[in-house]
Amino acid sequence: MNIILMGLPGAGKGTQAERIVKEFDIPHISTGDMFRAAVKNETPLGLKAKSYMDQGQLVPDEVVIGIVRERLAMEDCEKGFLLDGFPRTVPQAEALTATVKELGREIDHVININVRRELLIDRLTGRWICPVCGASYHTMFNPPKEAGICDKDGGKLYQRDDDKLEVVSQRLDVNIAQTQLLIDYYTEQGLLRSIDGEQDIQVVFEEIKSLLRG
Ligand code: ADP
Ligand code: AMP
Ligand code: ZN
Repeated sequence: MNIILMGLPGAGKGTQAERIVKEFDIPHISTGDMFRAAVKNETPLGLKAKSYMDQGQLVPDEVVIGIVRERLAMEDCEKGFLLDGFPRTVPQAEALTATVKELGREIDHVININVRRELLIDRLTGRWICPVCGASYHTMFNPPKEAGICDKDGGKLYQRDDDKLEVVSQRLDVNIAQTQLLIDYYTEQGLLRSIDGEQDIQVVFEEIKSLLRG
């Protein structure tokens, strides 16, 4: 199953992706995670991406398209994949359509998680992440059992630099500007399905599962 998970920053893509890939046993491909790893390791890719990320801007299309193309060609994607945070622009979506076709496959589902902008600021500024397994927690909406510690592996939770209030608003604006165009693109292809992402995490997951199985 080849799936795209769409939604503004904070909509719950990572939270749901963690559950979906476990359920369907497919790789989780998050371009944001790939860039953060590259920045941490100070690779040439990381050096290219860092200034855009720090300012809440999108990394240029050709850079993002290149890394996704390489990743999708890897063997573990043959059984399917879940894209989280890609595509974010229409040129990225067009490049993805071409890449998937070259690989002799097709996108099966595009799921858009809808959450109003007002709620996203609180979600992002209260988000804490596990450096070991990548799980997303929230101080109020999804707290770990012990403050600051991952339930699964004891990892010490951290906050992303771009989840600071100063950057969050810019990230939301940049992403909102692109999202409607992407929604139009996948609606035209008859692939787009929308989910109300303001419901409980488990309810959102149940709805996604029934869409994917439907
Ligand atoms: P994204 O990957 O789309 O940027 P995350 O999955 O990291 O978003 O979620 C953003 C924040 O919102 C996290 O702190 C997460 O715990 C919290 N969150 C995710 N889904 C929900 C939900 N359905 N209700 C309340 N909070 C949620
Ligand atoms: P995310 O973890 O998905 O919120 O992404 C974090 C940051 O990585 C974004 O604010 C962008 O700077 C960059 N990024 C991730 N995915 C993309 C993409 N598909 N296109 C452009 N930039 C991206
Ligand atoms: Zn963890």
